[in-house]
Amino acid sequence: MATTRVTVLAGGVGGARFTRGLLAHLEREDPDAQVTVVVNTGDDLWLDGLRVCPDLDTVMYTLGGVIGEQGWGRAGETARVSAELHAYGLGWDWFTLGDLDLGTHIARTELLRSGLPLSAVTARLCERWQPGAALIPMSDDPAETHVEVEIDGQVRLIHFEEWWVRYRASVPARRFVQVGVESARPAPGVLEAITRADVVLLPPSNPVVSVGTILGVPGVREAMRSTTAPVIGVSPILGGAPVRGMADACLSAIGVETSAAAVALHYGSRTAGGLLDGWLVDTVDGDALGRLRQAGIAARALPLLMSDDTATAAIVEAALALARGTGPAR
Ligand code: GDP
Ligand code: CA
Repeated sequence: MATTRVTVLAGGVGGARFTRGLLAHLEREDPDAQVTVVVNTGDDLWLDGLRVCPDLDTVMYTLGGVIGEQGWGRAGETARVSAELHAYGLGWDWFTLGDLDLGTHIARTELLRSGLPLSAVTARLCERWQPGAALIPMSDDPAETHVEVEIDGQVRLIHFEEWWVRYRASVPARRFVQVGVESARPAPGVLEAITRADVVLLPPSNPVVSVGTILGVPGVREAMRSTTAPVIGVSPILGGAPVRGMADACLSAIGVETSAAAVALHYGSRTAGGLLDGWLVDTVDGDALGRLRQAGIAARALPLLMSDDTATAAIVEAALALARGTGPAR
């Protein structure tokens, strides 16, 4: 049998946990399968002179087995360097960069400054962590997400991380802007990973500022529409709320209801020019199945909490089973 090629479009924590479960499943069922993770870089930012790529690092550390308890950063972290910076009145007191994590950012910045594109830098960093999947940034060109907000009566564009981490998304987003995305090119291998896959999976990553950002890179949406691989997604919304984080604040900014069905219909059915062949919802959202199937999206309800790799592997198994039964006519 030919090697199965699985491609995932991921943000940070949701994408990373899903991919870890995917790898656990494939290790048992299809050890030769090749997994490519196209990762959102809309959250990337310069901080204290260093290039920080929150979602790439979350995926790399999670798959490398060194992720921190909280779901990001490194396990066993300390913050001595940040404390020194703060003593000089530098750094951002609302954005923690641990000492071990800073090692990664320094290495990345050094490699970028030597002239390597982010995709090559990422491959180099992954040589150390052996994530078990190919990690590709959505683009080598910066396309940072900014958020238009009104603070103290003034309309401002702030970086996504400032809105998310500093304001905890409590200031309403008027809109999201991907700065520079018009001229961003998909990183080498991104379009091929989508068009030459046997199955494309949308993990329960944020549909607006993770998956939506990747889809915003010119050419990616078209590749998703034209791939012969079935495209199956997993809902990040359970019972009308995100499992963690503030995805509801992102969805309302783009006029999409916070529900499992609304997110699927936002991606749209491939039968109607959208992206999805199939969609998994949690058992609490079982009443959405009829509506989804009517829209041309194959759907199934099952527990969607990724409480551990075994639970996540069961979600993956359901997604792959749905993929076998669906997909565009070949
Ligand atoms: P971020 O970049 O770190 O915010 O991570 P992602 O965009 O990859 O994933 C965030 C999304 O994952 C949130 O909208 C959560 O609702 C979703 N999520 C987190 N844990 C789970 C889980 O156990 N099950 C499901 N279905 N979704 C989850
Ligand atoms: Ca993110």
